[in-house]
Amino acid sequence: MAKAHAPKAAQSVPINGSPEQNAYMEDIEKQFIIDKDQLTAIKDHFIVEMEKGLNKDKQTMVMIPSYVEGRLTGQEQGHYLALDLGGTNLRVVLVTLEGHGKFKTVSTKARVSEELKTGPMRDLCDYIADCIDTFLTEQNLSNVDEDLPLGYTFSFPVLQSKINRGILTTWTKGFNCTGAVGKDPVLLLQDALLRKHIPVKITALVNDTVGTLLSNAYQKPDTVAGLILGTGSNGAYIEQMAKIGKWKEGPTTASEMVINMEFGAFDNERVILPVTRFDNKLDRKSINPHFQIFEKLISGMYLGEIVRNVITDMMDRNLLFGQPGQNTEAISGHYQFETSFMSSIESDTSADLSTVRDILDTNLNLTNVDDVELRIVKRICELVGTRASRLAAAAIAGIALHTKVDRKGADIGIDGSLYEFYPSFEDRIYQGIAELMPDYADDIQNIVRLGLARDGSGVGAALTACVADKMLKSK
Ligand code: ADP
Ligand code: MG
Repeated sequence: MAKAHAPKAAQSVPINGSPEQNAYMEDIEKQFIIDKDQLTAIKDHFIVEMEKGLNKDKQTMVMIPSYVEGRLTGQEQGHYLALDLGGTNLRVVLVTLEGHGKFKTVSTKARVSEELKTGPMRDLCDYIADCIDTFLTEQNLSNVDEDLPLGYTFSFPVLQSKINRGILTTWTKGFNCTGAVGKDPVLLLQDALLRKHIPVKITALVNDTVGTLLSNAYQKPDTVAGLILGTGSNGAYIEQMAKIGKWKEGPTTASEMVINMEFGAFDNERVILPVTRFDNKLDRKSINPHFQIFEKLISGMYLGEIVRNVITDMMDRNLLFGQPGQNTEAISGHYQFETSFMSSIESDTSADLSTVRDILDTNLNLTNVDDVELRIVKRICELVGTRASRLAAAAIAGIALHTKVDRKGADIGIDGSLYEFYPSFEDRIYQGIAELMPDYADDIQNIVRLGLARDGSGVGAALTACVADKMLKSK
């Protein structure tokens, strides 16, 4: 599916504030803007780290073999269940693959409470099993003769040992259930399903990036990678077995395998990323300090909070929102500045920035905000949003160069609200890739073809369950 063309963000306008405000803004511009040379160095380091992870265990970018072997033809058919855990919502999906790259889906969503996200894993699995049970009843599928095959999209770092077996190495994105790290999420959920006599068999364990890659590939056979730019950020791509130096499990059914990169951990050592004090503050107060630093600079869960950290720093220096009686309670609360606000703020191209004013008033109770302040808030959003998209470009160009994309080009499927809804995010990524791949800059959009792969975690999981079938049959 082609992405609807997002409106371009306006050229940034001069702040024209007080000398102190102007000086502050100049200083943070320097901290947030990544120029071409810096971006190139980041991309080069990214490629080195990819290669490290392919050749050795326990590297920063883990480069996890997914056990998904070979490629799709688009002709695959059948009914499959998919389960998506690890994003904002828990989803259960019934996917019908019809061949010719076509499919139908029916799905249901449920919220995962903070209590479930940080409580015992057994409670979370029971909750998921109940959601599946309810969905099957609604779909008249509770009395089937054979267990329904399910692809389980579990979007956390898992060391896989088979297409439907793996060990959770660490939680990310605000999840922190007890009794799960070091265990197999498939077995834990399958136990809950058995306890409740629910006729479902988990046949594939899927990372959402791998699912995104497959769902894009079902429609576009020249797909080489899948990315998530949503709550978190990560990518998967198709690698030649010969380049996976750490692979010790003998022959596979195909000469290629999908690799889940776990690139959110890229440069946890902080060798190359231009991490600011605002990022360090966010990191320190996060559930996983020091880890997932690349993800923390790029993804939806964190961008709003980085913006808020700049805003509150300016407030502490009496540079923002100091009007007598100004209500700063909301803006002072952690994660109260949502990443979606940045999208709305950046899309405001009006002269009086009336949308920016509205957002601050409606969501954060900030009233009587002056025009300089509106321009400052918008500029901070541009800086944080632009840096995120350029870092995403470094990862994409890294993958494209490592896999030796040529003039024929390749497709890359991307899933996630940040990519889908943030204005200019895609344009800025293309701009970044063009800088990083100068040989192809003249025609970059036809060579590195980005496209929205909506519902990679649903359809992709179903496709993975289907690949699992194929592999079983060809062994
Ligand atoms: P998930 O990654 O959890 O599957 P999404 O792809 O919907 O789900 O991403 C959710 C993340 O995207 C949240 O962190 C949220 O802050 C962010 N987000 C939601 N809407 C927007 C928007 N309009 N613009 C930018 N970011 C958004
Ligand atoms: Mg998602």
